[in-house]
Amino acid sequence: MAPCSTPSGRPVPRCICLATARPSPGTTFGARRCPRKSGALLPGSFNIWRSFMSFSIAEITCRLLAPRHELSCSWRLWCRLLSGLRARGRGVGESGAFLLGTRRDSGRRRIVDFLLYDDLDPHALETGIVRLDGRHFGKLWDLCKARGLTVVADVHTHPGAADQSGSDRAHPIIARAGHLALIMPNFATPPVTRERLGIYRYCGGGEWEIVPLRHRREFFHIGF
Ligand SMILES: [Zn+2]
Repeated sequence: MAPCSTPSGRPVPRCICLATARPSPGTTFGARRCPRKSGALLPGSFNIWRSFMSFSIAEITCRLLAPRHELSCSWRLWCRLLSGLRARGRGVGESGAFLLGTRRDSGRRRIVDFLLYDDLDPHALETGIVRLDGRHFGKLWDLCKARGLTVVADVHTHPGAADQSGSDRAHPIIARAGHLALIMPNFATPPVTRERLGIYRYCGGGEWEIVPLRHRREFFHIGF
């Protein structure tokens, strides 16, 4: 088996479910560049400005509507994610995705896009369970760098319950304390509510904590 890296850098056999990788230093970035305040507009400036404005308005609205939520996502994106996971798993196999977005100093994370595992590694779903080859992670970090995003969480489906498997616990896909891992039950078959999700936070050192059911709605906002 091809080795993949671990948080300690020691080679291990390729993971059964989720490959282990560490985020590159390039996944956290400073603020986006602001448009110039004076002078003639450069070609493409309008689109950059419009994109920046949309981002800012969404960010402000999110803060107003979901000030206490640690993780948030628009309904539109959430539905697109569920649809993508179901399509790739075809109802018979696991699928998954990196959830890409922004992370504020306060710890709040906003999901703005996702990257399906099999779009990163074409062989990721061939066995029916997720097996990511760590050699493909460079493409993920390049994408994050190009778009000014970071991996705010990961998600994968299970055929049954949303409990973590032993492999899920042993091999966090991002081995960084604070990383969030979501598990969708029944191959993401609707309805997938926050209460049916498994939401886990990696504490480091192989330890995880679960976000309790009673805290789901204040923890994870799906809406605007
Ligand atoms: Zn799993």
